[in-house]
Amino acid sequence: MPTYHYRAVEDEAACDACRETFSKIQTISEPLVEQCSSCEAPVRRVICAAGGSLIDKRYKTKKMLSDGNLKKLGFKKLVKESDGKYVDVLQD
Ligand SMILES: [Zn+2]
Repeated sequence: MPTYHYRAVEDEAACDACRETFSKIQTISEPLVEQCSSCEAPVRRVICAAGGSLIDKRYKTKKMLSDGNLKKLGFKKLVKESDGKYVDVLQD
């Protein structure tokens, strides 16, 4: 079963439980939690992958697709030149 993470929408209205992100194990068919179970403040679902935020993940993907890394992994990166020919820009 997936674990969903929730956090108070507004810190001012939040109690200790929902000011920090809390998690709840739910089935996919279960409705999303909309209120904190202890203070009833509105909460929203947050996406947090293990080991970092979504932004970190995007950054990692970008880094993975860097020229240096592609070259290391043996990929070619073909770029179309103005004369219509493709050249491998990772080639020295
Ligand atoms: Zn709360």
